[in-house]
Parts: sequence; C-alpha cells; structure tokens
Amino acid sequence: MINEKMYGLGDEPSAIRELFAYGMARKAEIGAENVFDFSIGNPSVPAPELVRETMLELLDMDPVALHAYSPAAGLPEVKEAIAAYLSERYDTTATSGHLYLTAGAAAALASSVAAVTHPGDEVVVVSPYFPEYRTWIEAAGCTIVEVPAAVPSFQPGIEALRAAIGPKTSAVIINTPNNPVGAVYTRESLEALAAMLREREEALGRPLYLISDEPYREITYGIEVPWVPSIYARTIVCYSYSKALSLPGERIGWVYVSDAADDGDAVAVAVAGAGRALGYVCAPVLLQRVAARCVGEPSDVAAYAENRRLLTEGLSALGYEYVEPDGAFYLWVRALEEDAQAFSDRAKEYELLIVPSDSFGVGGWVRLSYCIARDTIERSMPAFKALKESYEA
Ligand code: PLP
Repeated sequence: MINEKMYGLGDEPSAIRELFAYGMARKAEIGAENVFDFSIGNPSVPAPELVRETMLELLDMDPVALHAYSPAAGLPEVKEAIAAYLSERYDTTATSGHLYLTAGAAAALASSVAAVTHPGDEVVVVSPYFPEYRTWIEAAGCTIVEVPAAVPSFQPGIEALRAAIGPKTSAVIINTPNNPVGAVYTRESLEALAAMLREREEALGRPLYLISDEPYREITYGIEVPWVPSIYARTIVCYSYSKALSLPGERIGWVYVSDAADDGDAVAVAVAGAGRALGYVCAPVLLQRVAARCVGEPSDVAAYAENRRLLTEGLSALGYEYVEPDGAFYLWVRALEEDAQAFSDRAKEYELLIVPSDSFGVGGWVRLSYCIARDTIERSMPAFKALKESYEA
C-alpha cells in the first residue's frame, strides 16, 4: 500500500507551479509576448561568465576523477574554500567540518529540520513563508507553528514569536532576504530575536535552534544582510547558489552550523546524519567545484534593481499598495479583494500571472516575481491598469 501522505504531496502541485504550468500552456496558445508571467522565482540574469569558464576548464580534468563520488558532506577542498571565504567575509571562524554541501537550499533545509527535531516537536515559522517549510517540517513528524510577521515592516514579530515558543519548540525558521515579501531582517531585529530566544531557552531548559534560510543573501538593494551566527550562536545557515549564481536547476548549496554554538560539533554531525537518512549525500560534484571557484563572485543585481524600480513606480502610479522590497526579487502587493485566489483568477483574465498569498500562509495579498524580462514589466502596465479599473467599475 502506498503512503497516502506521500501520495498527497506528489499529487498536489504547488499553487506557484500550477500557475507556472498554466502560463506555459497559455503562452503556447496566445504567444509568449501576450502573457505577463510573474509566477516563479527563476533568475532572469545569466550565470556569471566565471561559471561557464570554470565548467569548461573542469571538463578537461580526468573524467574518472571529475565525476567520482565525493565524501557525503562534499569535497574537503571545496568545504575549505567556502569556510575560508565565510570566515573572512563575516570576520568569524567558520570551519569546514561544520559545512555540509547539499543539492540546493531545499536539501539543506530538509536536513537541518530533521537534524534538530524529534517527531511531535514544533517548528515556528514567520508568515508569510516559503510553502515548502510545511512539507519539510511535517516530513520530520513535527508541527508547523505560524507566527505573523510584524506589519507593516514584515520584520519578525518578537513578542508574537515569544508567545509561540513552548516546551515542544525545537527550532525557528527565518528567511532573510525574504521570499515572498522582500524584507531584509535588520541587525536590530535579529538581536532582539536572539535575546528573546536565549531567554526562552533558559526558561524552557532546552536548546532552540535558529534555521536561517538564505538563498537570497546576495540579492539586495544596498542594504546590510547581517551574518546570523554572529548574533545567535545556535544558528544553522541554509544557503544556495540557485539565486546568487543563477544556477537553480543545477542544485548546489550548503548547510553551515555555527562554530560559536556550544553543541555545534554535535549538530553538524546530526546534519550529516539527517542528510544521509534523507539520501542527500554527495551534492553534484561538478557544481561543488564551481561553487568553490566562484565563492566570492558578485551577483549581478543591476537588472533586478531596475525591474524593481519599474514595477514599484508603475504600480505606485496606478494606486496599488505594496511592501517596498529591500532584497530578493519579489513584490508583495495587496490584493484588491479579500480573496487573494479570486484576485489572482481575475488577473488571469488580463493575462497577468500573480501568485495568491494563501500559498504563503496568509490571505489578502499576491506575490509578483520580478526576475523577468524588463520589457514584460513595461508592457504589463496597461493590464494592471485594466485589472484595477475592473474593481472600480
Ligand atoms: N527557500 C526559499 C525562501 C526559496 O525561495 C527557495 C527557492 O525558491 C528555496 C528555499 C529553495 O532553494 P533551492 O532552489 O536552492 O533549493
């Protein structure tokens, strides 16, 4: 007999992917130029030239050595290169033994959640949140506890989080820069969060892990993204090159367990164990080497910055309400009716594909991905105007 829970997960496409698939079909039907697809977070900036050069050079290596298995946690020299980079960039001591290379942030998060929880535990998330958190938390036998972000800043709501952390809580997941709202958590917010977690640890007599999901760390518009392990010792960073190097389909990222945590060595071993249990061993090895070579390669955010300007200025002129994004490449826009799904459905009539907020755990908003062609944003404005007017008629 199949596992019904797994069947359910396999059978139910995410709202984002469903909209993306609808967009593909619609583009085939009426022409790609007539569909304004803001559905998915696929980077629209090409990978840096250094990625291509490195791959070509690597292909000259002895193929047997190049494609061979690496240790489960990754090639030692790759982990050394990443650890050295992190140590220098964040003025800290990050050791390679605390790194575990993974197939993207997805595998990093699933492994981290499994490493620090037991079935029956609770994992707290800040809503709106990346929908797969629920999948990974529930797969670990735990319960997701949603705590709304503070409005209108969309920074973590410290008092609401304090109230949600109880004797079953093992971990809190944060995501900065944030998908879907574009908020970047300030140093002040993170310090307040850390102080509260330390207080709750003391009161509850158990460790509380902070899992910091950071695939958008490099995608910011002139704002600091503080290094969380330097603020809260029991931090586990989940990172990915999907967005930083525009390599989402290649699947490479890592887990870093803070060296500052008193139990950091044990947590790092548990992450390796969880990766093993879930089958996430030996991340794609060609990409491991690419990551090591491109570790300090800057992300090209100029195109996203320009798209952000065009989209926010355009929507602002039309009277839409949105959250000013400081990072990532998403715009969180207030739906023009309570029912975000109904609003997204109506937008489809104007060939606008925008994701309803219900998938992120809250109602009343939509998410627009602006990692798309600039021209699509420019040409979409009459459609946004018509959509708005349809509510005013
Ligand atoms: N976390 C967030 C917030 C994301 O937006 C994504 C991907 O879009 C992921 C995790 C998964 O990243 P990856 O593609 O590296 O697995």
